[in-house]
Amino acid sequence: MSSVLTFTDPDADVATIRSMSREELTETGRELLRESRKHEARTVLAGAALAERVYREHLAGRSETSVWGSVIEHAEKLGRAEVSLQFGVSRSKAGSWVALADLLEKFPLIRAAYLNGDYSTNRISIMARAAQRGGDIDPDYIEGDDSEMSFEEIVLDYGSRATTDPVLSQQLDAALISMSPDSVTEERDTISELVGDVTITAEVAGHSNLDAVIPAHYGVFLKSQIDTLIDERTCRKDPRRLGPLRVIALGEITGVPGAHLTCDCGLDTCPARVALLTEPADAEDAQACEALLPAPAEAVEPVAEPGVPDPTNPATPTEVPVPFGRALVMPDAPVLTVLIDPDGVLVPRLQGYGPIDPTYATTLADVAKTIHYPESARAAGPLIPQISDRPQAPPADPTGHGSHTVPPPGALTYAPSATLRAEVLANDAWCRYPLCGMPSYLCDLDHWRPFNHTDPEAGGWTALDDLIPLCRADHQRKHLGEWVPTLHTDRRVEWRSRRSGQVIVTYPR
Ligand SMILES: [Zn+2]
Ligand SMILES: [Zn+2]
Repeated sequence: MSSVLTFTDPDADVATIRSMSREELTETGRELLRESRKHEARTVLAGAALAERVYREHLAGRSETSVWGSVIEHAEKLGRAEVSLQFGVSRSKAGSWVALADLLEKFPLIRAAYLNGDYSTNRISIMARAAQRGGDIDPDYIEGDDSEMSFEEIVLDYGSRATTDPVLSQQLDAALISMSPDSVTEERDTISELVGDVTITAEVAGHSNLDAVIPAHYGVFLKSQIDTLIDERTCRKDPRRLGPLRVIALGEITGVPGAHLTCDCGLDTCPARVALLTEPADAEDAQACEALLPAPAEAVEPVAEPGVPDPTNPATPTEVPVPFGRALVMPDAPVLTVLIDPDGVLVPRLQGYGPIDPTYATTLADVAKTIHYPESARAAGPLIPQISDRPQAPPADPTGHGSHTVPPPGALTYAPSATLRAEVLANDAWCRYPLCGMPSYLCDLDHWRPFNHTDPEAGGWTALDDLIPLCRADHQRKHLGEWVPTLHTDRRVEWRSRRSGQVIVTYPR
């Protein structure tokens, strides 16, 4: 394999790689990646050890009473700065190496996996931080599970799945909430107090940079408002990128004077324009429409500065009061929705965000719609990823009829009902294709066994047992048939490569 590469003759290695077969590329690439991760893990430990050496040398010879606070901090900074200079990395990168190496001291299993080349530095950092956050969890606490896994082992179990790093973060957050809800509530308060902020700083060329750490439901609300405004005011023919549209939408929603979103397609037939120009039929429509239209000029309050005239700068006749804009609320945007388990076993989820602690879910009850997890999701228990630790559930019925002998209501209709869709989404949080992080609410529901349009009873039925969420791109990929899925009764999906027989498993949550 990679021994066919010279590692000394770049041109030769480029030529060798270009001449490899698909199988050779797969195998060599995988092995090279593992080797590079092994090297990176050792680089991180070497950097951290160098920082530690510099730190200790700097403090050597000092009496114990003189080593405190700012002296220690100074020595730590010296250590990081030396790593930065010697390795040619930023000081913050050097700092993150030191912090990671420190964390890994406490988690030997995670450190071994890192040194073994199993994971990237970013993924290992996510895992080590989660293990640290769950430090106080009593392993026996794990409800409804009789396995003897420590939290560190649970973290490794999650880490080993074919998930993206952000999905892993959310799964570990859910595991923590499930096992130690109070500590996550406390952490949320700490973040609000210490990190919660909205900063707007000058960029270049007439732009500002907006950066904010806000409660999850603020984020979900703002995002859905922006998305809804764009949906209503523009059509698919608008030539602009989505980014600039979001900027104008944010401006209009927060009432920036002059910020107003209209479609740039230039077509008389633009559906978004037609909707705006249509005369409202009755008073109720008129009211709904008013919310969408810019405030009429006469309704805009001019800026009324209480009038102490400044004698040094008398108002000139050319000064025109600038009208304030008006904050806009999109009435048709989806409302905040929280998924809860009345028995308190499953971790609450804020739709459009992910897992939240139960206390947060309770405080959101006044402003959000609360819905219950369906029975099918509750049956699976709080920590779905431990399926791997349980006896393997068999594949779902290959007919696509699941556990049903007669079609349940709606099973013979191609499109799932809203209730069924909600049930699938409550079971499966993300697109079920390996290594996709698309939240399930943005996905298509795919019939695992194809629906038969001419004889619906004979094909896969439109029921939980035959539906999985797949994002649009992966939905198309599935139909190409390179990787063939098998749905299991515990909602694991095994994706088998038709070429190599290799299997990748994905889990519902
Ligand atoms: Zn248009
Ligand atoms: Zn996907």
